Amino acid sequence: MTKLYGGIEAGGTKFVCAIGSGPDDLRAEARFPTTTPQETIARCIDFFRNWAQVSPLTAIGIASFGPVDLDPRSPTYGYIGETNKQGWDNIDFAGAMGRALALPIVLDTDVNGAALGERRWGAAQGLDTFLYLTVGTGIGGGGMVGGRLIHGLLHPEMGHIRIPHDRQRDPYSGWCPYHGDCLEGLAAGPALEGRWGQPGETLPPDHPAWELEAHYLALGLHNYICTFSPQRILLGGGIMEQAHLFPMIRANVQRLLNEYIKVPALIKNIEDYIVPPQLGNRAGVLGAIALAQRLGG
Ligand code: ZN
Repeated sequence: MTKLYGGIEAGGTKFVCAIGSGPDDLRAEARFPTTTPQETIARCIDFFRNWAQVSPLTAIGIASFGPVDLDPRSPTYGYIGETNKQGWDNIDFAGAMGRALALPIVLDTDVNGAALGERRWGAAQGLDTFLYLTVGTGIGGGGMVGGRLIHGLLHPEMGHIRIPHDRQRDPYSGWCPYHGDCLEGLAAGPALEGRWGQPGETLPPDHPAWELEAHYLALGLHNYICTFSPQRILLGGGIMEQAHLFPMIRANVQRLLNEYIKVPALIKNIEDYIVPPQLGNRAGVLGAIALAQRLGG
């Protein structure tokens, strides 16, 4: 019998819960807005509890907005930490789910979840060192190094790296409340809107906004390539639905690296190196199911 798993994509604006074993076997799905933690977690519990009466689940994976405590030895493992999402500070998300449902629960970042889903079923199959970057209302990065999801002191905050900012070319000061002109401050959705006075998706493909956007994202990728040596980089999120950005980013990455790293992936085959994810808008919840599968055998 196929083992069934639960997955939760926990986002700042919406939650997606699903049950199944993979992209071709999703048996139930629910979407609801993120409200208070009490109400939102209760809806998750109800969803899985109803299903468990029909067919038992093996484990539940949660791919969550952050920050989240990912250290199993920590007393606050599975907690959401101090977050910008009001009311969600220091919430024992994984613990509440585990106590209510008496199931093993695993929690990771939303981007690590999506990365794992892409490795299992999507654009990162067969790789052990790769990155998944999401570029939308914020910028987040996750992925694997040597076959392990990247954790550490807490977890990476790849959107908040510092990149060169030429204020003559771009006088916009950046919107990150902590750093101003970090990568997220200069290149996430709110930066496009703040700089150009209209949402990114309304700017035509030949607007100068996109060359600047590609430049900033390429500066970020340059740093990640030199730091992690990923075998591939997946770029997802709302901004990356502008497909014309991909060739611009690839060209900028090549210009910045200047053939310093002499591997075919970066020189001849960069179309297969900087790529969109393949699981679309189900990447998050499928990633959560992939997390649960790793736990549940
Ligand atoms: Zn920042």
